[in-house]
Amino acid sequence: MSQRPPILRVAVPTPVRGLFDYLAPGDRAVEPGTRVRVDFGRRRLVGVVVECARESAVPAARLRPVQAVLDEAPLLSARLLDLGCWTARYYHQPVGEVFAAMLPVLLRRGEPPEVAGERAWSLAPGGHTGELDALSRAPRQRALVEWLRAGARDTVTAADLDTAFSGWRQPARRLVEKGWLEERMLSCLAEPPARTAAPPALNADQAAAAGALREALGGFAAFLLEGVTGSGKTEVYLDAVDAALGRGRQVLVLVPEIALTPQLVGRFRARVGVPVAMLHSALNARERLCGWNAARTGEARVVLGTRSAVFVPLAEPGLIIVDEEHDASFKQQDGVRYNARDLAAMRARSESVPVVFGSATPSLESLANALAGRYRRLHLGRRAGAARPPRVELLDVRRRPLVEGLAAALIERMEAHLGAGGQVMVFINRRGFAPQLICHECGWVPECRRCDAPMTYHRRRGELHCHHCGAERPAPTTCEGCGAEALMPLGQGTERVEAALGARFPEFEIERIDRDTTRRKGSLEASLERARSGEARILVGTQMLAKGHDFPGVTLVGILDADRGLFGVDFRAAERVAQLVVQVAGRAGRGERPGEVVIQTHHPEHPLLRTLVGEGYGAFARSLLEERREAALPPHAHFCLVRAEAPAQAPPRAFLQAAREALPVECRQRVLALGPVKAPLERIAGRYRMQLLLQAGSRADLHAALDRWLPAVEALPEARRIRWSVDVDPQDMS
Ligand code: ADP
Ligand code: ZN
Ligand code: ZN
Repeated sequence: MSQRPPILRVAVPTPVRGLFDYLAPGDRAVEPGTRVRVDFGRRRLVGVVVECARESAVPAARLRPVQAVLDEAPLLSARLLDLGCWTARYYHQPVGEVFAAMLPVLLRRGEPPEVAGERAWSLAPGGHTGELDALSRAPRQRALVEWLRAGARDTVTAADLDTAFSGWRQPARRLVEKGWLEERMLSCLAEPPARTAAPPALNADQAAAAGALREALGGFAAFLLEGVTGSGKTEVYLDAVDAALGRGRQVLVLVPEIALTPQLVGRFRARVGVPVAMLHSALNARERLCGWNAARTGEARVVLGTRSAVFVPLAEPGLIIVDEEHDASFKQQDGVRYNARDLAAMRARSESVPVVFGSATPSLESLANALAGRYRRLHLGRRAGAARPPRVELLDVRRRPLVEGLAAALIERMEAHLGAGGQVMVFINRRGFAPQLICHECGWVPECRRCDAPMTYHRRRGELHCHHCGAERPAPTTCEGCGAEALMPLGQGTERVEAALGARFPEFEIERIDRDTTRRKGSLEASLERARSGEARILVGTQMLAKGHDFPGVTLVGILDADRGLFGVDFRAAERVAQLVVQVAGRAGRGERPGEVVIQTHHPEHPLLRTLVGEGYGAFARSLLEERREAALPPHAHFCLVRAEAPAQAPPRAFLQAAREALPVECRQRVLALGPVKAPLERIAGRYRMQLLLQAGSRADLHAALDRWLPAVEALPEARRIRWSVDVDPQDMS
């Protein structure tokens, strides 16, 4: 054996695939899972040591030493390293980028994992309500308060203030003295409340499900918890969490992006009585690192996070829960493309812990896994407590007048429910006032200059917004085609429905909940609170309203645009619209009073709607699964979508054409390449988009082909002229 120091095989954050070999420092052993700083080309990057080896294929003279070892002890366990490598292999993503995605941004930059307590400032109640005139003699204090009031974040650190507000310390100190500002030490862990709330007694179905989970602790098992909305799935989770904590284990709970509202967090915190770490995108970098590290050291016993939390290190993992597992936000759609839901199963297997996937509307993938016996199915068929299922009705709106998209029959129903003291929720999955403007004289429609799509009209702001690229401009008053002052809004969005209902029901408070009204931090929470408390009697919103919220006072739900999903181009359109309808409908009648759901439709005879309304999601999903089998679509087939884009139309096509030809002949029997075709929306943000779809009947065939094919694709000269990406198990075909 040679005396040469061992070779470190490092995952370096670069699109170039594979691990890179470096020489370990002579004076110390470096274990896998440790971060190192390395020279890569002309840059110096932070990578993760994945393996140590004696030999390298790189000639000794060309091996470079690592520049620095950043951690005393490995940050990532052998199991997490395996999960990272598996993710890179399965999703065919560069391994260095996968490991970068696994780490909080501060660790990616080479900072130490331990976060010292940091001071932070936020507005005190006095600072929120105080008259600014009281500060007229202290302009800097006034400016600081105005800045904080307008800001996107509730809590700011010294670093935030330094970048935004020079010389802030003196005015901040004065404001603290006046009671306008609060200063505290930043803590990343939600402190456990003094007393934990008592759980309700589980009903028989809940007890059976919880019992199965308790029994499974200590080894790998996968469960699908299929429970109708309001059936008390969260109580089942909490019972299993309790059991896992009792065994001295940690619990990882993955939730959709939007569901991380105080309601869910509050419910968990109030019940588990242990430190809870949160990991989601609204946190700043330091808070994220803090939670991540608390999970790693074991200080946090419960970790509640969105998709990337599937990679969080856990000192003593005991249970993984994926709530609302059908939600599309578990899929990372750009950068490193992976599905946290599916990775949760892999992770549970490698950590030898149970995983439970919960939903009222399971994804067809999970349902297929349950039907094939890979997941054990747990079923909650009835609503918990006193709540009954809502009555669902298809309202035929053909040939009936619609006022701003609302049928008279729905308005009447609203009157009745509002009059009886109930809350009403109106759902339409488009934000803005109208999806387009049109000239009544000549038919001209303002389009985005950089996308092939009309711009959405936002009346309150007097602007046109492109919902694809984010472009904004003032709404024109005259037609650019004929010069007439005849532009009128076409179609409905939440803003228009809100305005129409405001005119019709001036005596009731309306809360609109969509991405536009909830952009500022804290505003979603405030809106949800007004909805929950009953202060707002009418709720208007997009799919944000559908996500797991518990509004006990809602007795009527109106769904305006279910039809739009019936004829979508994506093969998942029917599944998605059904999930949305059932989830929105599930907000009705969760309290004491019975609920009612009205679905406006131009297609009351549509078999999809009929099965869904008549027999429920379970029957609907099973028949859809049968259709997918017949049509050889996922989960009964396996897809990989290769996307390519460039500022000109020809290069993406040329690249994908060449890629298609590079598919090894031996693979073509079992893997079908379709395309290249234009993406459903060809041009977004000035870039032309094409795609090539690979289809296979078996996962193994698909991956065997990709393993052989992708290196050849990468080597194509055309690959350098465009942006392209590989998406295994694509969730969105656009
Ligand atoms: P899901 O997550 O399935 O939609 P939740 O867990 O949010 O349902 O429960 C719905 C409502 O029913 C909540 O208000 C919850 O407190 C209540 N609940 C759940 N289980 C029970 C039970 N066994 N007895 C009484 N109320 C319950
Ligand atoms: Zn015109
Ligand atoms: Zn655009």
